[in-house]
Amino acid sequence: MGFRLLFVLCAIFLSQMLSSCSGTLAEGQSIDGELAMEHVRQIVSWGPHPPGSEAQTKVGDYLVSTLKSFDLQTHEHRFEALTPLGRIEMRTIWAEVKGTTDSVIVLASHYDSKYFEEFEFVGANDGGSSTGVLLELARTLSESNPTPFTLWFVFFDGEEAFRTWTSRDSLYGSREFVSRLGKQGKLNKISAFILLDLIGSKNVVLRRDQNSTQWLNELIWKKADEMGHSDVFAPRGWTAAVDDHTPFAEQGIPVVDLIDLRYAHWHTSGDTLDKLSSRNMEIVANVVLAGLPEIASELKEKQDR
Ligand SMILES: [Zn+2]
Repeated sequence: MGFRLLFVLCAIFLSQMLSSCSGTLAEGQSIDGELAMEHVRQIVSWGPHPPGSEAQTKVGDYLVSTLKSFDLQTHEHRFEALTPLGRIEMRTIWAEVKGTTDSVIVLASHYDSKYFEEFEFVGANDGGSSTGVLLELARTLSESNPTPFTLWFVFFDGEEAFRTWTSRDSLYGSREFVSRLGKQGKLNKISAFILLDLIGSKNVVLRRDQNSTQWLNELIWKKADEMGHSDVFAPRGWTAAVDDHTPFAEQGIPVVDLIDLRYAHWHTSGDTLDKLSSRNMEIVANVVLAGLPEIASELKEKQDR
C-alpha cells in the first residue's frame, strides 16, 4: 500500500471517528416549517382539547398515527389525575429513536389546550406550535440521529391548570412521567431534557429561562446567534418559567425551556392559527436540531469526567 493511499484511508477513518464522536447532521437534514404548521392546523381543527375531552383523544390518536408514519414505535402513559374538576383521564405519548447508548435526551411539548369555561380556547401557539414542531423534529431525527444518545419525543397531557396554577393543579403529565420513571429506577437514564412551549408566534422572542440549566441556555443561544437568529433568540433578557421541565429539574437533570411568556394572546380566545408563523417555528426547530450534536458532545464530556 502506497503512502498516499494509506494517508487517505487514515484521513477517512479519522474523520468518520470524529463525526461519530461529535455527531453531525445528515446532509440536507432540516425542518420544514410548513409541515409543522400543517400539524398545528390539524390539531386546531378539533377545537378546544383539554385533558379528558373527546377532541383530546383525537389529538392523541393523531400524534400516535403521525409518529407511526415515521416508523417509530409509540408508548403511552395513561393515568387518572385528581384535578379541581374531579378525576380526569390523561395520556402522555412518546416515541423513541435509538442511539448507540441507552442514555436519553428528551425533547418535549405539551399537547393539551387549557380548559376555559367562558370562551373557546384552541391554543394554536400554547400547546399547538410546539406540538407541531416536535412532530417535525421526530420526522427528521427518525431518519438520522446525529447523536449517540437515544432520543425520546414526549408529548405531555395536562400541562395546564384547570383553575389557577398551583403545584398540584398543573404539570399533571410531566409529574406523573417523572414519578413513574423514578419508581422504575429509570430516571438516571435521562441525560438532558429540552422543552418547547409557545414558540410559534409571528412576534416570538425567546429569552433565557432562569430555571433552566445555564450551559444548555448558553449553548442554544450561541447556536442561534451563529445561525443569524438573534431576532428570535434575544441576546439579552431573562424569563422565569415553571413548566414541564420543572419536575425534571427537581431531579437534578439538565433542562432547558424554550418559551415566550410575553405572547400577547396567551390564554385568550385570540390564540389562533393566524397568530402563527411557520418560518419562526422552522427557525426554533432548526436551532434545536443544529444544537443537538453539541449538546450530546457536551453531555458525553461531562459524563466521562
Ligand atoms: Zn398555557
